[in-house]
Amino acid sequence: MRVLVISDIHGNLTALQAVLEDAAQFNYEEVWCLGDTVGYGPEPNECITLVRQLKAACVVGNHDWAAIERMDIEDFNAEARRAVLWTRQELSPESLAWLSELPSTPIVKGEFTLTHGSPRDPVWEYVLYPSTARANFDAFSTPFCLVGHTHVPALHVWVESETSVRAISPTPNRVLALRPAEKADGAAPSLRIILNPGSVGQPRDNDPRAAYAILNTKEATWLPRRVAYAIEITQAHMRSAGLPERLINRLSFGW
Ligand code: ZN
Repeated sequence: MRVLVISDIHGNLTALQAVLEDAAQFNYEEVWCLGDTVGYGPEPNECITLVRQLKAACVVGNHDWAAIERMDIEDFNAEARRAVLWTRQELSPESLAWLSELPSTPIVKGEFTLTHGSPRDPVWEYVLYPSTARANFDAFSTPFCLVGHTHVPALHVWVESETSVRAISPTPNRVLALRPAEKADGAAPSLRIILNPGSVGQPRDNDPRAAYAILNTKEATWLPRRVAYAIEITQAHMRSAGLPERLINRLSFGW
């Protein structure tokens, strides 16, 4: 099965539409969404409507929680806090109801565990470093775990016979095999991987293009994608909404 994996849309409708247009060529059968559908961006309701139309399997993110007042925004920086307050005013009753029904614990889909932050702290922990990844392999039981939250595409690979975890920054458009090739004797090292598709609506790896991934569950392959979108349209909508200038500018740099 081919799966479109998206995360951290953050109310950026123009970026989400560009991703869906680009992803159409892969004939995906399911959509998995790793949270933070709202927060920061100017079209939270429109993004929720689209994610619902896609019938995406979706978990809740920290910004989603903040938007429905399930999280104290004291932990957010000043600009993120302003964006949360703006998002709260904007959300329709339908959007609020949808956000409040999203699961805050990981979803398991076959060999894949889906969560926003990390399997051991689904809403808040960032898996940025191999040491954090290593500690989290004990918190899920499937071979693979999909996370978002950092806004940085990455793979953390653990060969179970080894103690350390290897971090990989994937090259866009290069397919990665998630299972090691079998040797002549049929033996293959046992691998587990934590994968992050990056962020649709607010990338933070110095590449401003929207990020997503196509997962092929049968062939166990991961295709990281980047797609350019009309950043200036999102920025214009943010400006007319009165959202903080720093949040508007960072979209140009992917940081
Ligand atoms: Zn996020």
